[in-house]
Amino acid sequence: MECSVRHARNAYIIMLVLVVVGAFSFLPGANEMLGRSAASHAGSWMGAILLLLSTIAGLMTILWLRRDARRMTTEINEIIRTGKFAPLRAGTSDWARLCGALNGMIETADQRVADAGLGAKSLEIELKVANAERQHAEAIIYSISDAVLVTDPFDEVVLANESAARTFSFDLAKASRSPIEKVLSDVKMIELIREMRQSNSKGGRRIIEHMVKTDAGEKTFKVTLSNVADQGENPAGVVAVLHDMTKEKEVAEMKNDFVSNVSHELRTPLASIKAYVEMLIDGEAEDEKTEREFYDIIQNEANRLGRLIDNILNISRIESGLVKVNKQPQSLVMIVKEAIDVIAPQAKLKHIKMSEQLVPAIYQTMADKDMLYQAVLNLLSNAVKYTPENGTISVQTVLDEGRKKVITSISDSGVGIPPKDLPFVFDKFYRVEANNRMAKGTGLGLSLVKHIVETVHRGRIFVESNVGKGTTFGFELDLVE
Ligand code: ADP
Repeated sequence: MECSVRHARNAYIIMLVLVVVGAFSFLPGANEMLGRSAASHAGSWMGAILLLLSTIAGLMTILWLRRDARRMTTEINEIIRTGKFAPLRAGTSDWARLCGALNGMIETADQRVADAGLGAKSLEIELKVANAERQHAEAIIYSISDAVLVTDPFDEVVLANESAARTFSFDLAKASRSPIEKVLSDVKMIELIREMRQSNSKGGRRIIEHMVKTDAGEKTFKVTLSNVADQGENPAGVVAVLHDMTKEKEVAEMKNDFVSNVSHELRTPLASIKAYVEMLIDGEAEDEKTEREFYDIIQNEANRLGRLIDNILNISRIESGLVKVNKQPQSLVMIVKEAIDVIAPQAKLKHIKMSEQLVPAIYQTMADKDMLYQAVLNLLSNAVKYTPENGTISVQTVLDEGRKKVITSISDSGVGIPPKDLPFVFDKFYRVEANNRMAKGTGLGLSLVKHIVETVHRGRIFVESNVGKGTTFGFELDLVE
């Protein structure tokens, strides 16, 4: 702005000189002082003209300066208002220098703003990428079925997924940035996380088994604890991942039970066979009749052993999905009739009256004939085994046309099953103690029937029983339309 001040000062000095010269020529004694004759009044006119010219020149200078100043002010105000730099337009040479300097500054400032803008843009992009990566990591953690808990160096929860909230029964929305002891009520788990953080082992890992009391009961978890470090290798907290291994443990226990049950069941007939063979070798069978008895026992025990092994193999094949199922439209009634024909002689031996009420053979169901035959045979065989002499067995097949099902039931007038045993009769190796005297068995027959009906044929098995009055076992299957 210095240039405009100098312009104004010069204009005022010129104007002042012209005004003084003009005014002096008007003074009454001026002509005498200058030694001019009275006749020469032309000088006075000259003074007046000079005065007028100076006034006009002064006014024009002021107007010109004001116009430039106003334009500059407007342009600068515009820059302030919009925040966008536009080059100022140059006027006179002073103005041009001023504007040049200002424009240089503006250009530099503009460049800096542009650079800053670019910097901000790249920071914005980096932030977006970091946010996307964080969300991606969070989405992975949230979708993991294992419980995940992440804490910071102050033992505050930084991240937890729904599985963790369910396992430890806490409110996921309130967990973030809360101290671990306020989020978890499991003292042992808090201790484990603290110990891990205090151990400060970079990249260290600890795997332990831990039992947690959840809303769904006690569960066993494999807990993996890891220390995490930030980019500067400073400890950043602890990550705890809890894998529910309750089922795996149960399966392992079941396998152990199964193996010990199987070996026990196999050992019993084997021991019996061994004992009778030894007696025969030692000549303990005194006559031919006793010898025959021993042979029969050996044969029965060998058959039992064979049945036991077959049942175990069949069940494990079905359970593991290795069994080859050959399902075709079959007349259920034909299968039932075949089984009745095989069982009838055994029933006759005990004077058990057998009756049947079957739907016409045209009704079909999708079935693996051999397997379904095996299931019906097992149920009929049990009915004969657990029904005393002179009892009755009735076999029924009924249509439920509304639900498109065929229901087969086998009712006997046998010893019945106590209510406390009923829920377990389909379990492997389960035998009803009260009925053990009635017949020998393996406790695998009903388990196989259930697998054949439900796993292989997607049907439903049922049982009803009254102690001392009898039992009804049955199953329903879909009809082929
Ligand atoms: P088992 O080889 O011992 O017969 P199952 O699995 O076929 O094995 O049957 C399990 C138990 O259920 C049997 O030990 C028996 O006590 C009981 N049970 C099965 N069927 C009948 C029935 N019709 N009447 C009474 N009890 C039965």
